Amino acid sequence: MPQSGAAINPFETAKRQIDIVADILRLDEGTRAVLKHPKREFTVNFPVRMDDGSYRVFTGYRVQYNMARGPSKGGIRYHPQVTLDEVRALAAWMTWKCAVVNLPYGGAKGGVICDPKHMSRGELERLTRRFATELVPIIGPEIDIPAPDVYTDSQTMAWIMDTYSQEKGYSVPGVVTGKPIAIGGSEGRGEATGRGCAYVIREAAPKLGLKLKGASIAVQGFGNAGSVAAKILNDEFGAKIIAASDSQGGIYNPEGINPHKVEEYKQKSGSVVKFPGAKSISNEEILELKTDVLIPAALENQLTSKNADKVQAKIVAEAANGPTVPEADKVFFEKKITVLPDILANAGGVTVSYFEWAQNLEGYSWSLAEVNDRLNHVMTESYARVHAVAEERKVDNRTAAYVTAIQRVVDAMRFRGFFP
Ligand code: NAD
Repeated sequence: MPQSGAAINPFETAKRQIDIVADILRLDEGTRAVLKHPKREFTVNFPVRMDDGSYRVFTGYRVQYNMARGPSKGGIRYHPQVTLDEVRALAAWMTWKCAVVNLPYGGAKGGVICDPKHMSRGELERLTRRFATELVPIIGPEIDIPAPDVYTDSQTMAWIMDTYSQEKGYSVPGVVTGKPIAIGGSEGRGEATGRGCAYVIREAAPKLGLKLKGASIAVQGFGNAGSVAAKILNDEFGAKIIAASDSQGGIYNPEGINPHKVEEYKQKSGSVVKFPGAKSISNEEILELKTDVLIPAALENQLTSKNADKVQAKIVAEAANGPTVPEADKVFFEKKITVLPDILANAGGVTVSYFEWAQNLEGYSWSLAEVNDRLNHVMTESYARVHAVAEERKVDNRTAAYVTAIQRVVDAMRFRGFFP
């Protein structure tokens, strides 16, 4: 799990990124200022009854960053180090992520300062339902649609959906995504991030003359996103997984390892470490392996000025959010390493969240095949657009993705105008 909170103020980083793109797009001061301010911020302090009968006050946030392209979308995280600036930054990044894959959404994010590892299920349910009650006036299928994030899951979404529905007097499945399938969740949501990442890699590889069949893949962080990407690259595109890791360490075999067997082994033993037939390596070493594709799928700030020049991969596909720091990006651009940036490479999750919401509004469920087919279409189109912008402007893919996203948000703002 990624850690919440960071030494560098993430919202300052988010604003710097906006300035860089605003310079490229030659945006006027007024437009820049709108882009650098969250539209709406909600802070609430609310009491929760604990199991011992005492009451504790918790603080929760919801930031709706920009809604020019549609209702805002973004997860809710539970973590002791949640800050308002972190939530603002994450809400800005959701705005760009939804725009780069052209979903009719703005961006939002939420968080509650709490330590879910030290709370009972009952306490978490009461916290979630009370926070949801406070959110009722500002969320809804046409306003703002939360989803799971760090330390929240489909059960958390079910509680929010139920609480909101109780308030309205009827079931409103479209108020959240990432729900259990039994109450309107979508087929394919669980594997969407990894699948979307695999599709983007498939599109990028031929541009470098790389054939995915037999190509070597190293995955740092064999969790939800990383393991699914590995299995799809192996099963559907004939690539060879040569290394995988988790928080305990990594494994490596240049002849290839079966990702399904690794997953079974991890489920039994708790880690990929000591998987039979592979050599042990560290999480630092996995980033520096000779491999065609490197998938950082664990934490932020993994590829830095310290290790960027040792990276030998041809493609770095960011399943994780923020694994590459800007100094490393520069090195990769100079070394002609193709970076598939997070807002594109891991947007499969929010894309299938959008499908879930669309199915809820339609009152009709799509088959897994239909979900995957549409996901394939969105990821393929989005990669093509970002690649074209990168070529045209002679910039790296990350800059191209931001330029694409921010231009779309600005277009929406301009057509709507600044009322009154
Ligand atoms: P997860 O908890 O399922 O998996 C994370 C994996 O990383 C685990 O196997 C964990 O052991 C490993 N890990 C933790 N610390 C590590 C370390 N120091 N070195 C190597 N591995 C380490 O989480 P996930 O849902 O797969 O998310 C992973 C990343 O993908 C995060 O950055 C998340 O924000 C991003 N992401 C996930 C989704 C999604 O839908 N799951 C969507 C968008 C982005």
